[in-house]
Amino acid sequence: LLIATGVASIVVAALLGWWLAGRAMMPVRHAWQRQREFIADVSHELRTPLTVVQSNLDVALADQDSSIKDNIDWLQNAYSETENMGKLINNLLFIARIDAREIKFKHSEFNLSDLLTQLVSRFEPLFRSKNLIFTAAIAPEVLMHSDEVLIRQMVSIFLDNASKYTLAGGTVSLKMGCIQNVIEISVTDSGIGIDNSEKEKIFRRFYRIDKARSRKQGGTGLGLAIAAWIASEHRGQIQVFSKLGEGSAFKVHFPNSTTFNDPQTEIKYIG
Ligand code: ADP
Repeated sequence: LLIATGVASIVVAALLGWWLAGRAMMPVRHAWQRQREFIADVSHELRTPLTVVQSNLDVALADQDSSIKDNIDWLQNAYSETENMGKLINNLLFIARIDAREIKFKHSEFNLSDLLTQLVSRFEPLFRSKNLIFTAAIAPEVLMHSDEVLIRQMVSIFLDNASKYTLAGGTVSLKMGCIQNVIEISVTDSGIGIDNSEKEKIFRRFYRIDKARSRKQGGTGLGLAIAAWIASEHRGQIQVFSKLGEGSAFKVHFPNSTTFNDPQTEIKYIG
């Protein structure tokens, strides 16, 4: 009986050890799995524009007698695909730096109102070229203590998306206010909207509701993943309000650790 009990406890201990080791390996296995999926996604995302570039150049080169002018459309297509690849590579490098924890924050106090006003001027030509009505309501003199470059990048992603997913004739508005020391930045559009079932998924890397549409607009599927990371690193929260066919609003709230000059938070309209 003593021997049987001894053997049984050794077996139980071995099984427990095996199970615990398996459990301990789980996060590592998940990380490998995520890594494999990411590499597969990246390869696919790079292969698609590369195929488009090659096929357009093939057509342009096929007819030896034609001039560059005759082939301008093919060359233009190839050029805009290389632009998209450039965007994708920049976003990939950024994501790689996030994963490697290589991004050094440059925290400073800056005037958020000025930063957003500059963004309005930068984006106005883009919205105009797409025949979209762009308005802004920015509270004056709101100071923020965070990484200015990253905050600019996050708002640019929302504005860029609004321009990509709103049909000509639609509206886009950028708003910022500060109430009870909480800063709210929102970008609202009257675009194609997002179904409820997609609202969380769109923040995943490479997730796109309509891949073809996103690609056509020069999307990389990484913008919102980057925006979500920037927001969370600044203790911010992103909310998405949307109705299919009616439009979307992306709102971010930041607890503000700095003061701001005008407690009345007067809303100023630009453009
Ligand atoms: P992309 O480069 O494809 O725009 P993002 O990560 O920025 O990638 O967004 C992910 C997906 O979320 C988009 O492909 C699109 O389907 C959806 N999306 C993002 N912003 C909007 C918006 N303002 N209106 C409708 N859909 C949007």
